Amino acid sequence: MTVMVQTHVHYAEEATTGYPGTLVAPSDPRAPVAGHSSLVDKMLKAGLLVPTGVLGLYGRSGVYQDVADGVGLMVRRWGQDLGAQRVHLPPVLARSTFLHTNYLESFPDLMGSVHVFTGGDAEHKQLLQRVASDGDWPALLEPADVVLCSAACHGVYPLCTGTLPEGGRIFDVQSSCFRHEPSVNAARLQSFVMHEIVHVGSAESAWNHREEGLACGLRMLEGLGLSMRAVPASDPFFGRVGNVLAAGQLEEQLKIEGVTPIPGTEGETAVMSANSHRDHFGKSFGIHSAAGEVAHSACVAFGIDRIVVAMLAVHGLDPASWPFYVRAQLGLAGPQA
Ligand code: 5GP
Ligand code: ZN
Repeated sequence: MTVMVQTHVHYAEEATTGYPGTLVAPSDPRAPVAGHSSLVDKMLKAGLLVPTGVLGLYGRSGVYQDVADGVGLMVRRWGQDLGAQRVHLPPVLARSTFLHTNYLESFPDLMGSVHVFTGGDAEHKQLLQRVASDGDWPALLEPADVVLCSAACHGVYPLCTGTLPEGGRIFDVQSSCFRHEPSVNAARLQSFVMHEIVHVGSAESAWNHREEGLACGLRMLEGLGLSMRAVPASDPFFGRVGNVLAAGQLEEQLKIEGVTPIPGTEGETAVMSANSHRDHFGKSFGIHSAAGEVAHSACVAFGIDRIVVAMLAVHGLDPASWPFYVRAQLGLAGPQA
């Protein structure tokens, strides 16, 4: 199975150090990639990240993953308080669901599509010849019926098609997400985990979820020692039409990001976002509230990897030496930890 990405690449502004595409492809995939930010280099040297030879694509060490699991557990506890239904989604999404999200209209440069080999012996031979001659072998593959997941919440909307129960539905959903933004920045990965608490219901309940979720998320992250600020933001909509969409989103304050300074990276970075989709997904997926109106939705998304990276940059690269109040919340302070 091979993954192909759109070819008209919109390069992340941080990716300025001479890697024009996704693949660096050194002969030894364990070889460090020159040009990483110093924060990535430090994390690689500390063994927290495992290199793959591709910018923004890393394995995680056990120590890193324990912190990520601890953050995930905190999000999960909040979801539990809200009575959320837990859904763990695969890192790929049905192509039909993807098309209903309208992601392709707004972010064609970020998506990734899965392609597979469907030929017989003759085509297999041809494929191997192309590989051997360094030719365009992916051109011999066929699109699969799945694409890479771009946002964890996309998988829950088809579960809601029809009429919602009174009070709507609430999900705790996490997924590995892909966005084609090769970058040297430790906080901009191509593959990262997104954990979301999503509400689908009435206009009022969805807006309340966005507002309360933002406050709750900010408190949670402040509690981990991150200095948080809420700022209205817009998604990186593609093209000229995208500029108009971004301006509208900003004006209506549909997206609020929780940003924090990450030492070793520039400016502030969004480690969470609280988003009102209005009736976008309700319309696309045929979802109605109990009162019969087109459903509204809102999601509060935590970028688990950005949170871990921020904590490593703020508290130090050895979680065992972090303040007790931080380790305790992550479940890392027990006698066995
Ligand atoms: P959004 O849908 O708001 O763009 O993304 C939700 C959250 O996922 C962001 O607030 C951020 O924490 C995380 N996220 C988005 N893009 C990236 C990325 O390129 N790398 C990492 N590590 N996290 C990301
Ligand atoms: Zn979402």
